[in-house]
Amino acid sequence: MTQYTPMIQQYLAIKKDYPDTFLFFRLGDFYELFFDDAVLASRELEITLTGREGGGDEKIPMCGVPHHAADGYIAELLKKGYKIAVCEQVEDPKEAKGVVRREVTRVVTPGTMMEGKWLSDKENNYMVAVAELDGRTGIAACDMSTGEMYVTSLAGKAESVLDEALQYRPKELVFCGLSSVPKTALPYAAFQANEIDAFAVDTQYQAQAKELDLVMRAAVNALLAYIGTTQKRSLAHMRLIKRYDARQYLQMDGFSRRNLELTETIRDKTKKGSLLWLLDRTETAMGGRLLRRWLERPLLRQSELAARLDAVEALKGDMLLRSDVRSCLDRVYDLERLAGRISYGNANARDLIQLRYSLEAVPELKSLLFATQSPVLEDLAAGMEDCADLVGFLQAALVDDPPISVREGGMIRTGYDEYLDKLHSASRDGKTWIAQLEQGEREATGIRSLKVGFNKVFGYYIEVSKANIANVPTGRYERKQTLANAERYITPELKEREALILEAEEKMIELEYQLFSAVRSEIAQHIPRLQALAERIAAVDVLQSFATVSDERGYVRPELMDSGEYVIEEGRHPVVEAVLEREKYVANDARMDQDNRQVLLITGPNMAGKSTFMRQIALISVMAQIGCFVPAKSAKLSLVDQIFTRIGAADDLVGGHSTFMVEMLETKHALQKATAQSLILLDEIGRGTSTYDGMALAQAVIEYICQKIGAKTLFSTHYHELTSLEETMSGVVNVNARCEERDGKLLFLHKIEEGRADKSYGIHVAELAEMPDWVIERARNILAGLEAGGSNSAASDMQMSLETLWSAPVAAVKEETAPLLSTEEASILEDLRELDLNQTTPMDAMLKLFAWKQQL
Ligand code: ADP
Repeated sequence: MTQYTPMIQQYLAIKKDYPDTFLFFRLGDFYELFFDDAVLASRELEITLTGREGGGDEKIPMCGVPHHAADGYIAELLKKGYKIAVCEQVEDPKEAKGVVRREVTRVVTPGTMMEGKWLSDKENNYMVAVAELDGRTGIAACDMSTGEMYVTSLAGKAESVLDEALQYRPKELVFCGLSSVPKTALPYAAFQANEIDAFAVDTQYQAQAKELDLVMRAAVNALLAYIGTTQKRSLAHMRLIKRYDARQYLQMDGFSRRNLELTETIRDKTKKGSLLWLLDRTETAMGGRLLRRWLERPLLRQSELAARLDAVEALKGDMLLRSDVRSCLDRVYDLERLAGRISYGNANARDLIQLRYSLEAVPELKSLLFATQSPVLEDLAAGMEDCADLVGFLQAALVDDPPISVREGGMIRTGYDEYLDKLHSASRDGKTWIAQLEQGEREATGIRSLKVGFNKVFGYYIEVSKANIANVPTGRYERKQTLANAERYITPELKEREALILEAEEKMIELEYQLFSAVRSEIAQHIPRLQALAERIAAVDVLQSFATVSDERGYVRPELMDSGEYVIEEGRHPVVEAVLEREKYVANDARMDQDNRQVLLITGPNMAGKSTFMRQIALISVMAQIGCFVPAKSAKLSLVDQIFTRIGAADDLVGGHSTFMVEMLETKHALQKATAQSLILLDEIGRGTSTYDGMALAQAVIEYICQKIGAKTLFSTHYHELTSLEETMSGVVNVNARCEERDGKLLFLHKIEEGRADKSYGIHVAELAEMPDWVIERARNILAGLEAGGSNSAASDMQMSLETLWSAPVAAVKEETAPLLSTEEASILEDLRELDLNQTTPMDAMLKLFAWKQQL
């Protein structure tokens, strides 16, 4: 055993309790890290790694950061997903016998951050717990900075419903009762909690706990237990738990959300370029966060949506009023996070002034909302409390422009506290006395440049330049300090006054701090009122944001139907339209219904606008179902309960599946879960395999959707052969993205029209991509040959000849070995013989085919 020094022993004893956490160990003016922490931190923070003698044979690795700069380093580590325990000296080193006592005073983790500077304004910072019990999964999420807390439970194991948890974009996950952490959760900082079943953590929630089912409780418990270990202060601002049922909302899996670029773009994962970015004209941070929540949870109930749409309509119609509402909201600070800091005890006087300014904007906001005469907005306004009592209190207690620090005075308004005012005047009088003394001494000595100054070491002094030293009265002045060209003196009466002044100032600062803390605690008693107000202001903000965008971009109010009808006239893709600057976006109609137009089969060359059209329809549905107007000339929309998308190549790096397998898995997912009210977007299903089985799969999927599900479906395909389905299958309708050929070049019109595309333009697209001329020419020749040689030039024949063309040499080899079956082939034959067709769904059959194909 190494004999470490007492301090290192103390370090190790503390570190033992924080194994997966950086321990910031306070040592004088620095926080030091030791051992492995030091090695890792020096790499992550790019700071110098040194060593320290600690009693062992070798030096202990060490690195450190100055305590006043620690926040920046902590923020950097948090961003990378690390946790940090801050260990302070908890006794005065001068009085300590032996090693100074140290304790961890706070643990900061990515999911439990409170400090405003580490958080982004318009985004919640969620910490989520996932608990599993008897095949059900409970999910609890909270944002410590705003006090929100949500809980739900779903049927199924955690692995299968993890999307619901990931939808919060949690900074940290806590698991409880899971045998292993699901693979998809690995990118998150995860923590495995012990099983806890009693509601022991916080009495605050005991009453509510009775209403939660068991697995919800387990989740809430795991969450609170984790928070309990990291936070060592009041959590009074945590609000009531909001219980919800995920089925109340339009459901989309994580992949579809990403694919539709609802809150971030696929390519660079930024908000810019997403639907959120386009719709976000909120003025407050709370509004920004609520908008994101609405976008993540579109609604299913017409009545709720009608209320939002009514409000948007009223605000959209009156531009002047709306701009007044916006400037009112602009004066409102982040009430939710202010409330969090106030109850947490780390709000400063500026925070309280921000609270005051925010509350002062409320009466005007209310009267503007009443003026709209929209019942919904009037209702919102009626529920907003002015909190005039708090405003009055804050106005009386605090000055308008207090300093950031709460330890330097200058916060409390004159007239608020009698004793403080007395100290103030004592200190003021003292300073007047000093000014008079300076004047008096100048006259008495005749030294006109004599002045009285102050510094922290010597206090008040009289300064006389070298040239005038001869005139200094002997006896009365005592020399204190010599400078290059001046001498500094003190006198007994100056020192006496100084004591009085300094004492008053010290008392003042201390008293101000006490008064301020009392003001803060008083306000903390009213947190629920502030939170209720914040919620309403946030809602108004989102509604005005919708109205603003809808007005500026010419959106219309969607008519919500329950007939199954779905008709968009001159619809546009909201984001593509917004970024296309010079070119005008080409608007497109979409007509679907329950019976005759259920599946739109979209053909047309690459780049013709197929997937943009598909996405545009999904986005219009999402926008309508969050209560926003939509980019179209008119829209009659039946509400959709789920949206599934399978567009473009997905990379499933974590899962390690091939692109084609991902495509199949996602399609399966849609086929399993979709209902007649769902919207399915499938982009070129089957492309990832050979022509025949790709085409067969595509057709089977369409048939399955049409016959078994009845969901509205947009299906784009390269397989022209599929267009003949229109004739044989009711519900399937052909549309195509129109192109024109001019002077041998292809022109994309981006116009979606009825009917099938009449020609495949693959070679033109290759030409656009500037393939070598040789390849283009050669392809044209081959195509011409195929078209001339093929009987009736039917598309399927052409496909066939293409197939023979490419696979000819392989076929030749097979010929020779034909009598002998390989083991794979034999096993496939065996499988086939055993397959019970009566027990096989079309999808199973397809998957089977796929598996066989893979084996060959
Ligand atoms: P496809 O899915 O058919 O390959 P995309 O939908 O990806 O084609 O569209 C290709 C490009 O054409 C897009 O990048 C977009 O900028 C443009 N585009 C698509 N639809 C329209 C439209 N309706 N109006 C204007 N430009 C469009």
